[in-house]
Amino acid sequence: MIASENYSSKRMRSYLDSDLNNRYGCYATLKPEDREYTGNKYIHEVEMATHELVKEIFHAKYVDLRPIGGHMAGMSVVLALLEPGELVIEVSLKDWGHGLVGPMCQIRHFDQTIQVEYMEFDESRSVDIEKLKKQIIDKKPKLVIFGGSGTLFPEPVKEFREMADKEGFLIAYDASHVTGLIASGVFPNPLDEGADIMFGSTHKSFPGPQGGFVVSNNATLIEKVGNTLSPSLVTSHHLNRLPALAYSILEMKEFGQEYGMQIVKNTQALARALDEYGFKVLGKQKGYSKSHLLLLDAGDHISVSPAKLLEKLKILCSDDFSGNSPEIRIGTPEVTRRGMKENEMRVIADFFKRALIDKEDPSLIARDVDAFSRRFLGCEYTF
Ligand SMILES: *Cc1c(COP(=O)(O)O)cnc(C)c1O
Repeated sequence: MIASENYSSKRMRSYLDSDLNNRYGCYATLKPEDREYTGNKYIHEVEMATHELVKEIFHAKYVDLRPIGGHMAGMSVVLALLEPGELVIEVSLKDWGHGLVGPMCQIRHFDQTIQVEYMEFDESRSVDIEKLKKQIIDKKPKLVIFGGSGTLFPEPVKEFREMADKEGFLIAYDASHVTGLIASGVFPNPLDEGADIMFGSTHKSFPGPQGGFVVSNNATLIEKVGNTLSPSLVTSHHLNRLPALAYSILEMKEFGQEYGMQIVKNTQALARALDEYGFKVLGKQKGYSKSHLLLLDAGDHISVSPAKLLEKLKILCSDDFSGNSPEIRIGTPEVTRRGMKENEMRVIADFFKRALIDKEDPSLIARDVDAFSRRFLGCEYTF
């Protein structure tokens, strides 16, 4: 139940094992007429066909699949679009952000040239729109990056489009976590809502191989990003993930809507059941969550790391990265992919209650968790 992980189909995994694993593509450019690496005829075809699928699923004119993860994709966007001294506003670690420009970028030169500030969130764990508007007027950022690792509700991209044109900043969307929800249509597509550029991972709520992507409808921006990616950040771009990614996009085109809807239903069912047991589930005012994860404040129930205790029962979820509160993040993509539905979420909530409220011996609960999860070893939403 680690929200940044998933469970991929056997067929998708089989595509990772190919000769492409030992080959180089032409990393220097994406322009077919300028690509001159030898032995690349079929590699080029595979790459371009995968690009078409990514464009289709994200409603984008341009794509770059050279980043080998979401973090690298984000770095390429920030490095390409900012001049020294300019400011980025992003989600802080304390609000379950990735802290792309802040704490996650520990390159001293970068630190000294790119400024960073954080947007604020309200009680229900949504971006505080009014505060962000004021912050933008005061601080004049060049780039605002929406999206984090604990996204419960869609971010207010369309609310900032007009302001971005007026004030002269760019909107980026870090879709790493919600890529699968966007592809399945249960989350709004940030590009449709006016984001200038979107980047992310292909392996979190999107059940593909590990990898990254950048998409945009703006040719100038994607070209700048491409020139930053290669050759500075990436040369070998791990080609074996591309057929696997193409396959997982085909799965999403066929089954994505059903998969995405079930993920959200499962998140809400689990949140409600935990709430009924007396847990403090964040975002309750707005229906807990509209995404693939929920956030639980385990504060009253436990003093040590709740996720470490849950690990003893063989339930894996994530402790708050900022380390300053006993918040845990619980994701539903993997259990959904294994075929669990709302009834199973109630069973899972009961395991949480036994461990954190009744303080039952973890090894006894682990036996029940084992027996329960063994009933779900298949993989749904695949051909
Ligand atoms: C996971 C994550 C990343 C990094 O993606 P990788 O694929 O691990 O490189 C970036 N941003 C956010 C919000 C994330 O959750």
